[in-house]
Amino acid sequence: MNEIVKKKQIVVIAEHRQGNITPVTGETLSLARELGRILDLETTIIIPGISMENQASHTAGTTGMNVIGIKGEGLELYNCEAYLEALTGLLKTADLHYIILPHTAMGYDLAPRLAVRLKASCITAVEQLSGKGESVTFLRSQWNGKIILEVALLTERKVVTVLPGSWPALDEKPEKPGQVTIIPFESFTKHSKTTGIKEAGRTEFDLTKADVIVAAGRGLRKEENLPVIYELSGIFPKSAVGASRAACDAGWFDYGRQIGITGKTVSPKLYIACGISGSTQHIAGMKGSQMVVAINTDPAASIFGIADYCIVEDLTTFIPCLLEEYGIFSRRQDSE
Ligand SMILES: Cc1cc2nc3c(=O)[nH]c(=O)nc-3n(C[C@H](O)[C@H](O)[C@H](O)COP(=O)(O)OP(=O)(O)OC[C@H]3O[C@@H](n4cnc5c(N)ncnc54)[C@H](O)[C@@H]3O)c2cc1C
Repeated sequence: MNEIVKKKQIVVIAEHRQGNITPVTGETLSLARELGRILDLETTIIIPGISMENQASHTAGTTGMNVIGIKGEGLELYNCEAYLEALTGLLKTADLHYIILPHTAMGYDLAPRLAVRLKASCITAVEQLSGKGESVTFLRSQWNGKIILEVALLTERKVVTVLPGSWPALDEKPEKPGQVTIIPFESFTKHSKTTGIKEAGRTEFDLTKADVIVAAGRGLRKEENLPVIYELSGIFPKSAVGASRAACDAGWFDYGRQIGITGKTVSPKLYIACGISGSTQHIAGMKGSQMVVAINTDPAASIFGIADYCIVEDLTTFIPCLLEEYGIFSRRQDSE
């Protein structure tokens, strides 16, 4: 089986949902392409699944990269145990340099386990490459973006996850399609089985289509302060309320409103971050916003690093003042 991954190369583990390769896999392929050019390595894409033939030939056609489908029971939905078993079987003796995955619920669950099985080093949530040739290094944020780590991976095999939003999706017109190989997967120990995926609840206005998002974080402090967020959102047409994971964990919002790597990816015209520190996990979901306004009491908050307008204020006093000003402004307009 392992003779299929023949040359020393880069392998990308594709993520798929409802029969489609996810957009973040396209971003992961961009890093693979960049790394491949630096190190003169080819990239092979692996799609575990049960009926991935169409996806495999489409992906081989749009990327020009070779695609291996691992086909077998237990791989239809992501299941760590089954994926690990299938991938280790294929990759353990292959001549590999890099195994790259998107930094999603699948990627950060699978990557460290795969690294242990393959005796590889592992870096997660990579945002940039640096250096040249064999001395290439990986950059990732730490402490909610307050510092950037530069990491060199010293082992022969390396496992990397790519933070969503850090690379554009691969967009190439290959001269010829890559080869497709489908291999069966038989041995599965069956300690666990993924039985389904349930969509989180929908918001009143689709976050991914909103022109304006007012997002709240832990800085909201208590549920009683929720009305200021909804009122601020209410002054904009085509607006929606979003939240950080901390605000969802606090029970103030349902998880359908969460923005970030484990929530929604949004790119509104205006994003107003209220009491959000700016963790890399949150920023990954909103950094495509055209304009960012951040309200935070901490002048050193990481969110200010990507904000166009930085307001160092307490949101519970600032937003009511802003709303009052807006109210006066609209009354003035009405009377003119
Ligand atoms: C695997 C993984 C996946 C994750 N996925 C996501 C994700 O998808 N989305 C996400 O958001 N997070 C995600 N997280 C969590 C993330 O790491 C942070 O913990 C989270 O984003 C922090 O949320 P926050 O900014 O609301 O809270 P905090 O980091 O606690 O920040 C609160 C901010 O509010 C400010 N503040 C306090 N009081 C006020 C006030 N009165 N007025 C104004 N400002 C005030 C503070 O100065 C602070 O900057 C993930 C974490 C992990 C490990």
